Amino acid sequence: MGARILEGKQVADGVKRGLRERIAVLEARGVVPGLAVIMVGDDPASASYVNMKGKACQELGLRSRALRMPVDLPEDELLKLIDGLNHDPEINGILVQMPVPKHIDVGKVIAAIDPDKDVDAFHPINVGKMLIGSGDGFLPATPHGIQVLLAAYGIDVAGKHVVIIGRSNIVGKPLAAILMQKGKGADATVTVCHSRTRDLRAITTQADVLVCAVGKAGFVTADMVREGAVVVDVGSNRIEDPAAPRGYRFVGDVDFEAVREKASAITPVPKGVGPMTIAMLMYNTVLAAERALERQGGPKV
Ligand code: NAP
Repeated sequence: MGARILEGKQVADGVKRGLRERIAVLEARGVVPGLAVIMVGDDPASASYVNMKGKACQELGLRSRALRMPVDLPEDELLKLIDGLNHDPEINGILVQMPVPKHIDVGKVIAAIDPDKDVDAFHPINVGKMLIGSGDGFLPATPHGIQVLLAAYGIDVAGKHVVIIGRSNIVGKPLAAILMQKGKGADATVTVCHSRTRDLRAITTQADVLVCAVGKAGFVTADMVREGAVVVDVGSNRIEDPAAPRGYRFVGDVDFEAVREKASAITPVPKGVGPMTIAMLMYNTVLAAERALERQGGPKV
């Protein structure tokens, strides 16, 4: 029997429905949450992510500001732009679309964003709060989305062995930090693998939940998966396909057709982790607006 398909798109729609109610409460208090997305350069993949974020804001009635800057924008100009948004009361969330051109120091850019508006949750303060588990920062959208998706399907990771392939700051590391916390939706035993891991298969076949965030199409093959495991495919790899309307399509890191025969549940690509990422970004923007209102002395939303 094939695996249950974890429909990220449907769960993401549910998250957005929940947000609509919170947005209505904010609107009744005169607040429209606002998200500013800065893009430096004209990378087509980045442009399409920025468009997706803008569309999601529009769909929910959030204020969205896309700031498209030339590829040679000096670093200090970018920092000034961020500073302006930090002080702009109409903007609750600020994100800089990655990657930025090489002449810009990413660390400086992330550190320049007000942690209270850091809806990507890359600022060291939010990373620290996530690791401590204090609950008053933001959680990064992709790993948080994976946690919410698993919970939505009643997949409890408590006491389970979660193996994550990939140790990036946006997926692997924060997902490990989130799932190892004490508490609901967490309490997992987490192993993080990377390109220097020896005998990867020996580790992945021990996983109750296997998460792959490598960025290589077909990386996870059926022999790497334990019978009955839950498989989360974070990968988003563009492959040429003359039969596709645009000549290309996106696939994950997992050999979906073979692995679905072995797994108990699996996320598809597209419509798996991707929509959850966007939904959780919207979640953080609404949360940022609620917290801003509270800081101004308004009642707790
Ligand atoms: P990344 O920064 O390139 O990290 C890739 C990770 O994979 C690294 O930790 C790397 O190890 C590891 N790796 C590479 N080859 C390996 C191997 N042979 N064995 C074991 N580990 C290996 O990528 P990322 O930003 O985390 O993104 C990963 C994928 O997820 C990409 O396809 C990206 O497009 C996708 N993504 C999707 C979403 C979404 O919303 N759907 C969000 C974010 C990312 P080292 O650290 O040792 O180099």
